[in-house]
Amino acid sequence: MRKPIIAGNWKMHKTTSEALDFIKKFNQLMGETDVEVILCVPFTQLWAAKEAVNGTKIKIGAQNMHYEDKGAFTGEISPFMLKEIQVDYCIVGHSERRQYFAETDESVNKKLHAAFNHHIAPILCVGETLEEREAHKTEDVVRKQVTLDLKDLNEEQISRLVIAYEPIWAIGTGKTATPEQANETIALIRRIVKELYNDEVSEELRIQYGGSVKPDNASKIMNQEDIDGALVGGASLKPEDFIEIVNF
Ligand code: 13P
Repeated sequence: MRKPIIAGNWKMHKTTSEALDFIKKFNQLMGETDVEVILCVPFTQLWAAKEAVNGTKIKIGAQNMHYEDKGAFTGEISPFMLKEIQVDYCIVGHSERRQYFAETDESVNKKLHAAFNHHIAPILCVGETLEEREAHKTEDVVRKQVTLDLKDLNEEQISRLVIAYEPIWAIGTGKTATPEQANETIALIRRIVKELYNDEVSEELRIQYGGSVKPDNASKIMNQEDIDGALVGGASLKPEDFIEIVNF
């Protein structure tokens, strides 16, 4: 049985005081839940957010990291640094990193290895553009990403991995993939992982959907057979919206 996992990706939003305010309000709204809840906050808020969730069921994640432990990489943050803050998760390979910051499958693969080495659970993002979907290339694109990104990772590491399927055309656009479309591609990702590893590994792997998840579509998405969670952008910025998604 795969435990549902819902993560907020705040992207480049909120100051530290706004983050602390959110956590306080959100925690007051949060009752008993079987859902694993994560907030992926900007680097500058990690430390304060980690302290603020102490004693709650909320986990904290980063949104990116370098693959080296240290070095002359101005402006970068290493997994070694994230580990000191004891972040639980780190998003790796988000489409905005691939699109605007030259993230490649090769660097994503290095980051996944580094994250596992530091016991940070990565949330690997994959997904196709609108042109690729319209050209019926979704399967090829996703297959290539998953295969290259997971290169040389072992079964034990995959057991700690989360994948987020985020069709780029559905991110921040208000255009959600239909629950069936999302489920179909997520089932495909599970099959690819089965081919690369085995049945057991693929059945245990948690795969989220991301792209315009909102309070009013969350339950239909979450109720699909292969979808185990959501990676939520815009609707994770308000406690009242995000709690509705968590309580789908
Ligand atoms: P939106 O929910 O704002 O579409 O963003 C999705 C996303 O990119 C989460 O990582």
